[in-house]
Amino acid sequence: MTLTSKWNLPTTVLFGAGRIAELPAILQSAGIARPLFVTDPGLAKLPVVADTLDILDKAGVDHAVFSDVRPNPVESSLAAGIQAFKFGNHDGVIAFGGGSALDLGKLIAFQAGQTRPIWDFEDVGDWWTRADASAIAPVIAVPTTAGTGSEVGRAGVLTNEATHTKKVIFHPKMLPVTVIADPELTVGMPKAITAGTGMDALAHCLEAYCAPGYHPMADGIALEGIRLVLENLPKAYADGTDIEARAHMMSAAAMGATAFQKGLGAIHALSHPIGALYDTHHGMTNALFMPHVLDFNRPAIEERIERLAAYCGISGGFDGFRARIMALRTELGVPETLGGLIPGLRMDDARRDLIAEMAIVDPTAGGNPVELTKEAALALLDKSL
Ligand code: NAD
Repeated sequence: MTLTSKWNLPTTVLFGAGRIAELPAILQSAGIARPLFVTDPGLAKLPVVADTLDILDKAGVDHAVFSDVRPNPVESSLAAGIQAFKFGNHDGVIAFGGGSALDLGKLIAFQAGQTRPIWDFEDVGDWWTRADASAIAPVIAVPTTAGTGSEVGRAGVLTNEATHTKKVIFHPKMLPVTVIADPELTVGMPKAITAGTGMDALAHCLEAYCAPGYHPMADGIALEGIRLVLENLPKAYADGTDIEARAHMMSAAAMGATAFQKGLGAIHALSHPIGALYDTHHGMTNALFMPHVLDFNRPAIEERIERLAAYCGISGGFDGFRARIMALRTELGVPETLGGLIPGLRMDDARRDLIAEMAIVDPTAGGNPVELTKEAALALLDKSL
């Protein structure tokens, strides 16, 4: 009997337009009296943050705002966030934003009470057991993009500035206690962010679906997540105020992150070093590698992709599905090459070598259905160039 597995389902999600109004009540039921509101500096200037802070003010919630969050968050921001958390004597975090603010908010709540360095809690084996679980503060997550699904995840991604590597920090208690998934909050996303974050959700579902291993629950979630993205991302991109399409994308994002407990793969293994070295948008970088990784994995996934295509109403099996991905990329203005994503890119052999070396040791590489060797990583990188 080889059908063994471990299933983790996400947390309570309050889903629907306008549900941000319930934030004060959610804080109260989570026992958070003095939340630190963590967001990024771009969002902090937008009405979506002002309106939410207004809801807190009107309910008399004692809060402070921390907005020193870079895309692809770094350790120095984490240190500043922890300082703000301790200075304000906060007892919980409202993580408000895209994956960057959600991850940093979760990491602040996790790390503020720990004594060991953050890198001791990388998602390796049982390293998470090193943490003092009783010192982890609760988090309410409020996504404003529909992509990473960090709101339903037990991990945060942090870039190590010394080694230029993206590390996944994991603890089961990093899972937010409640999520407010309000699609109205995503309406202000510019087209490029809508496209990039939506392609991230697609990459999560697709890689999880293709990862080997027994997890029919994740497979089912990923399958429907892919259908939702294919049907709704073009609509949300064409008309950012299409609240129904935005809502379906918000579901797909949470579904992708729920499904990828099964595994990710070479798309992410290559995307992580590119993101760490060039600070590119994570989802756009994933979108760039997607068709090349599909081709590379074809011998192992062809039958699965045929089933997926049939489910999504796409004719032509594997080739039909691949063509749909290519058409979607074009429709969303995804650059066709890395040079299109990174202006002025010049990549010599030493840099190619470094990226391939980083890709094959990335924790996501192990989930790829075909072994990602250094030669394969170099070939995939060259295709993207
Ligand atoms: P992001 O959080 O970096 O945000 C991108 C930009 O979009 C920012 O400038 C932000 O201000 C803007 N933005 C966000 N919401 C907006 C809105 N509603 N209106 C207008 N502008 C808005 O982007 P992201 O793709 O959501 O997150 C990427 C990060 O998530 C990366 O750091 C990546 O490593 C991480 N990530 C984490 C997980 C996880 O499981 N924890 C998974 C995938 C990615």
